[in-house]
Amino acid sequence: MTQPFLMNVTEEIVRGLVRFLLYGVEYQTFCHCEQCEMNIIAEALNNLLPQYVTSHVAREEAFKILNTPQNIEAINKEIIHAIHKVGQGLGHGE
Ligand SMILES: [Zn+2]
Repeated sequence: MTQPFLMNVTEEIVRGLVRFLLYGVEYQTFCHCEQCEMNIIAEALNNLLPQYVTSHVAREEAFKILNTPQNIEAINKEIIHAIHKVGQGLGHGE
């Protein structure tokens, strides 16, 4: 039942937050294509510490530790930084 896996909990959180921000009011004029979304995720993740886990229990523990208001705020800052960088680098996504 439990297949071994390797995942980055930071990535999971970043993906969720990027979605949330991109589909919010603030960035409704920003390009919503998959490429831009992935560029933002990659850019943000390159500036954040990864948190790799190999079990569901460890994933939940890491998620609890990472999911604090302070940490989410810090991650959001990196994402906003990444959105601006991606928006400048690509022709699309004003
Ligand atoms: Zn795009």
